[in-house]
Amino acid sequence: MNSCDFLSQALKKARARLLDPTPLARDCGRLCGAACCQTDEQGRGGMLLFPGEAALYEGRMPAGFAIHPDDSVLPGGTLLTCSGTCQREDRPLACRVFPLVMRLAEAGEPRLALDPRAWPICPLMPSGMAGLSSGFVEAAEDAARTLAQVPEFRAFLAAQTAFLGRLQQPLWKDGVAT
Ligand code: SF4
Ligand code: SF4
Repeated sequence: MNSCDFLSQALKKARARLLDPTPLARDCGRLCGAACCQTDEQGRGGMLLFPGEAALYEGRMPAGFAIHPDDSVLPGGTLLTCSGTCQREDRPLACRVFPLVMRLAEAGEPRLALDPRAWPICPLMPSGMAGLSSGFVEAAEDAARTLAQVPEFRAFLAAQTAFLGRLQQPLWKDGVAT
């Protein structure tokens, strides 16, 4: 199997593992009006796609989906935007795992964390990982372990980890005099 096949197989396995498990045993979208599917007040939104994920939509782009280049997290990145509703099987990995996010620890091990970008919108954040369905967390851990076996995904997770680190950097590290 070449590296492309290895990447594609891991991606499909990770997406399949996260197809059914959801953050709560019930539909958490009813708690918040599916806040994570809405664009912000500037009409912005979108989910960063994992390497190879854009190719899964080629020739079968669901209604309302669009894919755009986006270098905000890593060079050559791609962002998926949507109209706010979708079929479960069409969801990108970033949506399947939200409000968690996959990071890479310094030792190179995958780690799950609450996504800091979820704080303004997701009512599940205050109860933390312990408040999420254990089946969902386990599925996300399995998916992260699967992905971390592939160098391209490890590089992606490292870039995502660095991006989140910048996002969470304390403001006082800006060097602004107080
Ligand atoms: S914002 Fe949180 S509670 Fe609402 S649908 Fe998304 S994951 Fe569920
Ligand atoms: S792709 Fe689906 S799950 Fe993800 S934000 Fe859009 S509507 Fe929500």
